[in-house]
Amino acid sequence: MPRDVRMRGFAARADVEEVERFLAERVRALPPEPVALADAIGRVLAEDVHSAVDVPSFARASMDGYAVHGADTFGASDYAPLPLRVIGEALPGRPFAGAVGPGEAVRTMTGAPVPAGADAVAPAEVCEERAGLVSVREAVPPRRHVGARGEDVRAGERVLAAGRRLRPQDAGLLASIGLAEAACHRRPKAALVMTGDELLAPGHRPEGARIVDSNSLVLGGLALRDGAEVVAVERLPDRRERIRAALLRDDADVLLVSGGSSVGQEDFAPRLVAELGTLDFHGIAMRPSSPAGVGRIDGRLVFLLPGNPVSCLCAYEFFAGPALRALGGRPRAWPHRRVRLPLARKIGSAIGRVDYVRVAIEHGRVVPLATSGASILSSTVRAAGAVIVPRGLEGVPEGAEVEVLLYDDAPLTEGAP
Ligand code: AMP
Ligand code: MG
Repeated sequence: MPRDVRMRGFAARADVEEVERFLAERVRALPPEPVALADAIGRVLAEDVHSAVDVPSFARASMDGYAVHGADTFGASDYAPLPLRVIGEALPGRPFAGAVGPGEAVRTMTGAPVPAGADAVAPAEVCEERAGLVSVREAVPPRRHVGARGEDVRAGERVLAAGRRLRPQDAGLLASIGLAEAACHRRPKAALVMTGDELLAPGHRPEGARIVDSNSLVLGGLALRDGAEVVAVERLPDRRERIRAALLRDDADVLLVSGGSSVGQEDFAPRLVAELGTLDFHGIAMRPSSPAGVGRIDGRLVFLLPGNPVSCLCAYEFFAGPALRALGGRPRAWPHRRVRLPLARKIGSAIGRVDYVRVAIEHGRVVPLATSGASILSSTVRAAGAVIVPRGLEGVPEGAEVEVLLYDDAPLTEGAP
C-alpha cells in the first residue's frame, strides 16, 4: 500500500533532473496519422518524404517572349535584328503541340512549356512581332530564360525529413509534388482536471471565499502551444470519488491535474494515482512547485500540478510541457526564445534545489521579481520571462550573466504593464 503522506509532509524530494530523465526515457512520439495538407501546417512529420516526380515536369519558360532555338539568334543586335517566323503560341497549361524548326519561333508566356526544338526564350523586351515575323534584337544562348525539368524538385529526392514541424511553405512544397496528405504524429490529447472546493468557472466574479479557476486557462494555452489538443476541462470539488472518476477517464494521453497535489487533508490525487496506477514521483526539489507529482494510469501520464498559479505554470513547464511536445514529435526542449543579460540584483537559491525565478528586463538588465510568491499570478504577467537556477548553485550574484527564457515569441512593443 502506498504510504499516505497527507498531513505528514514529504519524506524526500526527487531531483528535477531525475524526473526529466524518467520522462525522457519513457515518452515516445505518438504514431502517425494522415493529415490533409491544409491542416498539417504546424504539425510534425512522422516520416521522410521523397518526391515521386520532377517539378516542374517540363522545361518551363521563365519570361514572356518567344521560344527559339538559341543558336538561331547568334549575331542578333539592335543594328542587325534577326527575323524568325512565328508558328504558334504556348501558354501555361496550354502547350504548343508542334516543334520549333530552324528560323522559327513560338510566342510564349511565363510558365508555359518550352516547345520541342526550342531551347531558349527571347524576352519580349528584345523582340518585335509584325505580320507573322518576330525580329529579335539580342542573342539568347541555349537555356536562357528556360527552367529545366526538375530544377525545383527531382524525382527520388528527399524533400522533407521526419521530425520537421511543417511551415506553410513546406505544405506548399508537398502539394507541388502531388501529395494531398502528410503523415504526421498524432497530436497528444490532454484533459484538464481542476480541483478545489473554492473554484469558480472562468467568467464568474470572485466573491467571499471563492476564487476563479485561472489555471485551466494557463494550462490550456500552454498545452496548445506545445501541440496538444485539449479534450476536456473538468472542474471538481475536493471529493475523492469525483477525482477518482476523473483520473480514470480514458479519452486523453495526458491528464493535467491542478490542485490537491500536496500533503493536505484534502489532497486526494497523489494517493489515488498510486492506487490506480503508479505514482512515480511526488515531491520535487524545486521552487516553486515542490508539491508536484508525476504518475501513470493505464499508460496515460498524470501530472499533479500544485494549485498555486505560479507553481502550476512552473510544474507544467518543467514536466508536462516536454512530455506533450515529445508525444507530438516535437523537441522536448523548452520552446522559449532566450537572451543572455546581466543580473541587476542577486538571486538567492539553495544547493539541492532548482529555482524558477520570474524576471523583468529593465534597461538591458535582468530584475528578479523577488516579492512574488507562488500564488501571485500577476507576477508572471509582469515578467518578461524566467531564469532557472540549477540545483548546484546557492544563487546567482548581481552582475552575473544569466539566460532568460522569454515568455514572448516576438519582442514586446505594446501592452506590457
Ligand atoms: P492546492 O494546490 O489545491 O493546495 O491549492 C493551492 C492554492 O492554489 C490555493 O490557494 C488554491 O485556492 C489555489 N488554486 C487551486 N486551484 C486553482 C486554480 N485552478 N486556479 C487558480 N488558483 C487555484
Ligand atoms: Mg486545493
